[in-house]
Parts: sequence; structure tokens; C-alpha cells
Amino acid sequence: MIRKKILVTGGAGFIGSHLCERLLNEGHEVICLDNYFTGSKQNVIHLLTNPYFELIRHDVINPFFVEVDEIYNLACPASPIHYQYNPIKTIKTSVMGAINMLGLAKRIRAKVLQASTSEVYGDPKIHPQTEEYWGNVNPIGPRSCYDEGKRCAESLFINYYKQNKVRIKIVRIFNTYGPRMHPNDGRVVSNFIVQALKGEDITVYGDGTQTRSFQYITDLIEGMVRMMSTSDEVIGPINIGNPKEFSILELAEIVIKLTKSKSKIVFKPLPEDDPIQRQPNITLAKELLNGWEPTVSLEEGLIYTIEYFKKELNLSD
Ligand code: NAD
Ligand code: UDP
Repeated sequence: MIRKKILVTGGAGFIGSHLCERLLNEGHEVICLDNYFTGSKQNVIHLLTNPYFELIRHDVINPFFVEVDEIYNLACPASPIHYQYNPIKTIKTSVMGAINMLGLAKRIRAKVLQASTSEVYGDPKIHPQTEEYWGNVNPIGPRSCYDEGKRCAESLFINYYKQNKVRIKIVRIFNTYGPRMHPNDGRVVSNFIVQALKGEDITVYGDGTQTRSFQYITDLIEGMVRMMSTSDEVIGPINIGNPKEFSILELAEIVIKLTKSKSKIVFKPLPEDDPIQRQPNITLAKELLNGWEPTVSLEEGLIYTIEYFKKELNLSD
């Protein structure tokens, strides 16, 4: 096995920490870069004793110089309450972060993978979403700092590839959940589990008929690692998600059942521009990523995630 040096931006976040762990387990050397806006040292504390792991506080809106073979660019807040906290900073993180990582990849001839998102499809008018779909994003709405930032990053990646022959990969990640999600980040899976475990009301926004397709973290990491190892001609974008679609109300009911909670469901206003439906078409991923497909069902993944939150909240039964 060849030990590679790999940079993970946003490595102290939810997805990044699992990715760092996986790459170290494969025997690689990992440099984790993070400004701790939504991530934390706690997420990677178990990796700090590994001599092949290095943790650096850095903001990707500023250039960063290092010699590595591969870069995974994940730095960007992902939950609506976090990315809307400082929208201009969110845009800068996506755009300047992409420019800085692409510039670095160009100089050192590294491969660079962008963590894009299903949000580039906005509130989609075609269903399920295929990679050819251009999306339906409100450019001036409350989600635009994230959606347009990520769309601009995709454009930067494609143009560095075309203009400068940088070796790029783009994955469009669909809703992903699992241990180390921030308990207060406002995303639906963490919200519902925390509310159910604490016996608080479960807050369904709108009437709960809007849908999402939830992917367990290990399935995503497998897809991302496979994408990085594809030949240079495979650049994406490629959807990485679990095609099994659930309404938000169904999710609430499953969480209540699995936690055996006495919480009741309450309805709150639907946030502006909240997408009505979302489901990935993963034909391309299956074809190009060696038959990759999700293997963890929603119930199974939720059981692991509930266990994690019980420990986090000191609610062991
Ligand atoms: P997260 O908020 O847990 O992780 C993001 C990490 O980036 C955090 O550690 C944060 O501190 C760091 N960060 C933010 N701004 C930074 C900056 N300017 N400089 C350096 N570090 C910075 O979110 P996540 O769910 O782990 O998401 C990781 C990536 O995956 C993001 O790019 C996100 O857009 C993308 N993504 C996630 C999902 C999902 O469902 N979780 C879906 C689609 C795309
Ligand atoms: N949602 C909800 N209750 C919550 C948090 C979210 O009903 O406490 C809804 C939200 O309106 C959206 C869906 O769950 O329709 C997914 O929200 P999340 O923020 O997790 O992801 P995104 O909207 O970015 O896909």
C-alpha cells in the first residue's frame, strides 16, 4: 500500500471527522484543517494520538500551503441555521475556499474533491434528481448563500479542470446523518432524535409532507473515497445519496418508535424556500464507483445515531 498525504478541509466537522478516521484507518497521513465554526476538536480528539494525524486551525478563505497528494474540500457550514448565521461568510467560505484549494491543487498537482450538495438542485422540478438537471434555486432567497456558493464552487472546479487541467472530482451529497452531528445544528435528524430523547415536542415544519432521502454517514464516506480513487477522466458531478425517500412526518414517527418516546408531534411554520421533495438518482454513482450503493437502512442508521446522542446527552437507559 502506498501511504498518501491527504488534506481534509472541514475535517473537524461531522462528515470530515468520519472521513479523517477512514483515511487514517487505511494507513494514510491526514492533515485536518478547520476553523472550528461548526466543527470541534472533540470530533477528532480520538485521532490526536495517531502520529499520522495533524490538526491545524485555519480558515479556508485564506490561502494555505502544504504538500499533499489529495485534497477533500469539505469546509463549509452545512445546516441552514449555521450557514444563515453569517451568509456573506458562507459565500466566502465556498467561493474563496474553492479558489484557494484549487490554486493549491494546481501548484502541487494534487487531486481535489469538492463536497457539493443536492442543494444545487434547489426546490427541484424534476424528480428524482439526475446530474443533468440544472436546478431551481432562488438566487436571492435565504438559502442562496449556501446554494449559490456551492454552485459557484462547482463552476470554479469545472473551469480549473478545463483551463488549468487540475484533477478534480465533484460529489453532490444528499442529506446525510449519523454520530457526531451537532446536537444543536437544527438539522431534522438531530433535532428529532434530541427532542424525542428529552421528551420534548417534535417540531415538524409545515405539514410534514415534504420529503428527503437520508443517507447514513458510512455509505457517504465509502462513496467519497471511491470517487477520489476513480481515473482522472471521472470528474462528476456525481450524486451520492440514499434513494429511499421519506416524508418528514414519517421520519418523526420512526424516531418516536425507535426511541420509545412519549414526545408528541407539533407543527411549526415551513421555512422560506424549503424544498418540497428530494431524492437522488444514483445510476451514475453505481456505474462509475464500482457498484457503489447505500447499504445502511434508515432504521439501522437511526439506531446507531440514537445511541450516540444518548451518550452525548447522558441519557443512557
Ligand atoms: P459541519 O458543519 O459539521 O462541517 C463543516 C466543517 O467545516 C466544520 O468543522 C466547520 O468548522 C468547518 N468550516 C466551516 N467554515 C470554515 C472555514 N471558513 N474554514 C475552515 N473550516 C471551516 O457539516 P457537515 O455536514 O460535516 O458538512 C461537510 C461538507 O459536506 C460541507 O461542505 C457541506 O456543504 C457538505 N454537505 C453536507 C451534507 C449533509 O447532509 N451533512 C449534504 C450536502 C453537502
Ligand atoms: N425540519 C423539520 N423540523 C426540524 C428541522 C427540520 O420539520 O426540526 C424539516 C425542514 O423544514 C426540511 C427537512 O426537515 O423540510 C430537512 O431539513 P434539514 O435542515 O435537515 O435539511 P435540508 O432542508 O437542508 O435538506
